[in-house]
Amino acid sequence: MRLDADLHIHTHCSCDSACALLKDVLEGGKAAGMKHIGISDHLHTRFNLPDIVIARKEFLEQGPVPGFHFGLEISCATQWECDKIARRDYTSCFTVELQGIPFRTMTPIDGVMYGGPAGGPLCIDISDEEIKALGIEYLIGGVHKPNYTDQSPKPMIDDYFDQMQFLIRHKRVDILAHPWWALPSWSGWSIVTHESKNEDVYWMIPQEYWDELGKLLVQEKKLAEINSGWLLGSGGVSEKALHFLMEHYANWREMGVKFSHGTDLHGAKYRGDWVLAMNALLKEYGFTEADFDLPRNLK
Ligand SMILES: [Zn+2]
Ligand SMILES: [Zn+2]
Repeated sequence: MRLDADLHIHTHCSCDSACALLKDVLEGGKAAGMKHIGISDHLHTRFNLPDIVIARKEFLEQGPVPGFHFGLEISCATQWECDKIARRDYTSCFTVELQGIPFRTMTPIDGVMYGGPAGGPLCIDISDEEIKALGIEYLIGGVHKPNYTDQSPKPMIDDYFDQMQFLIRHKRVDILAHPWWALPSWSGWSIVTHESKNEDVYWMIPQEYWDELGKLLVQEKKLAEINSGWLLGSGGVSEKALHFLMEHYANWREMGVKFSHGTDLHGAKYRGDWVLAMNALLKEYGFTEADFDLPRNLK
């Protein structure tokens, strides 16, 4: 099993801590045997749009490079936060009390994390015209925060399930990013308290949720992501959770789901070692090259 595509790479243009230069991504990806290298910086809401404009400019400055792609990692947002950001109303993005602990966000750089209505309409905050104008070739859709849900295991599992279904069904989303990423953190308040994460929440995901998502991925012809940085990079998941997730991804494969691979690189140096380790892990779980596919625009 040899992966030859990495479609989930952040650059220094991303709104988070990512710091890789585009030329280093290209060089490192090629050296690791990647035939398809896609950069995909974050767009939580249109507040991050200026970052993507810069990323596009730098992408074009590399010149036409075969196999080098311009993607986007889009978050599942709420209509409530997008309307608020469109009004440039950032008031409740400051300090919010969470179980008595102040949580500060100085700008809606990660979206508006708190204060909205739970269970409201979901959206992605980019238009078809913007996708076209920015030359975005594919979208990776991911769950990156709770949507004003009670942050305990059961409601957070349901919230992730709803958001993932929304993303898979969305006509512009090609790849479901890192299924169930950060569920332990969001279910246990660790972003505020820095408590050690409790991975027990993974075992609480109902099997029917896995089955429903698998069916939906097949039905909508969307790719599920194998995220090597999250699964194998430092501080990602425990051995037990890694194998739990891999078993379920392998079940999806048996249901007919196709996959996409991404390192989700945030550091400066390309991580060919993650790719090699993922090759071995995929082999262990019976994956072959035939289980991986490309978004429709890249074929
Ligand atoms: Zn992500
Ligand atoms: Zn990412």
